[in-house]
Parts: sequence; structure tokens; C-alpha cells
Amino acid sequence: MEFSWWLVLLAGFAGWFIGYEKLRHALSNLPRFLGRGSRSDLSTLLPDHNDQVERDLELNNLLEQYAVDDNSVELYLTLGDAFRRRGEYSRAIGVHEHLLSTGQLSEDQQRTVKLELARDYAGAGLLDRVESLLKPLVLDNPRDAASQESLLRLYEKQREWELAFDLASISTSMDPAERNAVKAQYCCELAAVAELEDNLPQMEKHLQRALKSEPHCSRALVMLGRYSIELKQYNKAISYFEAIETHHPELVPEIAESYFFALHAVDDEQVLRKHLDYVRGRQNSYSVIKLARDAIGKLESEQAASDFFIEQLAMRPSMKGLRDWAEYELKTTKSQDKEKVAAVVEMLRDVTDEKPVYLCDRCGYRCKQIQWLCPGCENWNSVKVIIGAEGE
Ligand SMILES: [Zn+2]
Repeated sequence: MEFSWWLVLLAGFAGWFIGYEKLRHALSNLPRFLGRGSRSDLSTLLPDHNDQVERDLELNNLLEQYAVDDNSVELYLTLGDAFRRRGEYSRAIGVHEHLLSTGQLSEDQQRTVKLELARDYAGAGLLDRVESLLKPLVLDNPRDAASQESLLRLYEKQREWELAFDLASISTSMDPAERNAVKAQYCCELAAVAELEDNLPQMEKHLQRALKSEPHCSRALVMLGRYSIELKQYNKAISYFEAIETHHPELVPEIAESYFFALHAVDDEQVLRKHLDYVRGRQNSYSVIKLARDAIGKLESEQAASDFFIEQLAMRPSMKGLRDWAEYELKTTKSQDKEKVAAVVEMLRDVTDEKPVYLCDRCGYRCKQIQWLCPGCENWNSVKVIIGAEGE
């Protein structure tokens, strides 16, 4: 088993254990806070108790018998949190709804419990209840960052991008730069929907709106560059790709093919030569090296292309580059080592085909296609092209 899988298993076990320990701690402390006369055997609430019905009865007894006061609220919250962490949403909901029904909570405590209850509902998939609980919290308290954050996550899940955009505009849970970047992503999501509906003018409007929120939004620049190519506006496409090169050099491999297509299609040799000079003067990712090599081969000579390729590969070695070089050697070599070179090529093909090319720098999620919202940790803009020997 791969080391990363061991880590995932270990993390999963740790999460389960922490939930269990919290629950055990809360239960062991409850009688002390609830006073004498606790007839119930609270240990039946522990998750390894087999009788589900008995556990539910025990929880109901507990909630019905004992008063909620400042001392016990925290423990009830811990109990509810532990149930939710263990995926026992109906029990978590039972605890939090009971707390609210007592009428004994201060305003602050009510807000805390409502937010917890919204998290229970979200876990249970009762998304309409989450919204009706969180909306008043957000409207009543413009500075309630935790509720804003939870409601934003809900809108993202429901793909309600306009609502998410409006909420992010007033949100205090992010700094201005992060807020603008996230708002731009919501516009890009709206653009992606318009693209699916084949409404390209609408798509462009959303992308321009994204650039108003975040002038260097990489996703909007990528989409606008590709859209300009569709409209055969190649110079415009090149200017969008140049902006990516300047502000998001890590994303150049993502647009390299479209970029070189536009450079060829603009049908002005000087534009292509100027770009190749620029590429020659720096280290490049594998995709750029490969495309520039093809262009040099056509514009100049096969020898010039090969020299450029070897020089660039030496500056930034990569498995993919090595594979291409070995493939070229296989075609040209006449020596009796041909079989050995073929074996190396085969091995490099296997290794490079298996490698994902994108990696989230927050959670380590790997994938073969760019994801603007990481499926692993739900952060925007955290998935990047892998640069280095195993990637680009
Ligand atoms: Zn992630």
C-alpha cells in the first residue's frame, strides 16, 4: 500500500477516535453537571452500544430530565458536536433542537446553537433547513463571519453562484484579496454554466465581470483566451495568454497548446519568432518545450529544434522530456542497443502516463485535470500544475 494511503487511513482513524473520546468525555462529565439523581446509565449512549433503540431512549431521557443552564450548555454542545463528528446527525439534531426549545439560552448561546444545528442539517443533507436557519443569522449580524462562511459553503454546494456572489460581497469572513478572488470564481462558474447552455455572449459577460472583481483572475483569462480563438481573434487571445504568463506563470502548461495555436494562427512570423526568442531565454515547462521545439523545427531546422530541446531538458529535467528524448533516440539509433532503448521508452511511458499533473497545495489532492475548487479541501485556486521532474 502506498505511504499516502496509510496516512489517509491513519487520519480517518484519528478523526473517529477523537470523536469517540469527546463523546466519552462529555458523557462522563454530564452527571457531575446535571446533579445527583441521574438514574440513567449514560454509558448506553456510547457508540459501541449495540441497541440503537435503547440509546435513543437514553438520550431522550437525558434531554427531558435535566435543566439547561450555563454549566451544562457547553457539555450539551460537546455532546452534539461528538454525535455529528461520528455521523450520528439525528442525535446531534436532537441535542441542539432541545437546547433551543428550552428558552434558557442567552442570545449569543442561541446563535452558537443555531450554527451547530445548521451544521447537523448540512451533514444530514437537509439543505433547505440549513438555509432557513442561517439566512436570518447572517442578516441580523453582518459581522457574524462563521454563519457567513457556512452559508457560503451551502450556496457553493447548491451551485447558487449569484447568491454566493452577493453574500461574498458583504462577507467579513475573508480579507479583501481573498474575497475578490472568490467572487471572480463565482462569475467564472456562471460563465461555465452559460458555456454549457451554448450562450457564449453571456459567458463572456460573466468572464468580464470576473475580471472586474479580480483583474488577473487566471480562470477568466484562460476561458477568454480560448473563446477569442473560437472567434478567430488571435491577437486578443495572445494578449490574454500573455497576462497569464506574467501573473500566473505556474499555469502556462495549462494554456501552452492554445497559446501556440494562436501564435501560429495569427499568421505573422515575427510574432512567433519573438515568442520563441522569449522562450529560449528562460527555463520552461515540458509542454512549452515540446511545442516550441515543433515550432523551431518548422521555422528553422530539425537540428536547431533538437539543440533547443536538449538544452532546455538539461535546465529543467522531467520524466516526460526524458521519455520524448528516448523516443527520438529509438527512431534514429541504428545500434544493437535498440532493444534496450525500447525497454527504457516503454518504462518511461508507463511512469509518465500514471502521474497526475495537478496537485492541491493545501491538502495534497491529485488529479489529471485542473480543478478550480479543490474537491479534497474545498478551497478555490489551490490546485496547481506539478512543476519538476515528475510533472511539468
Ligand atoms: Zn485541496
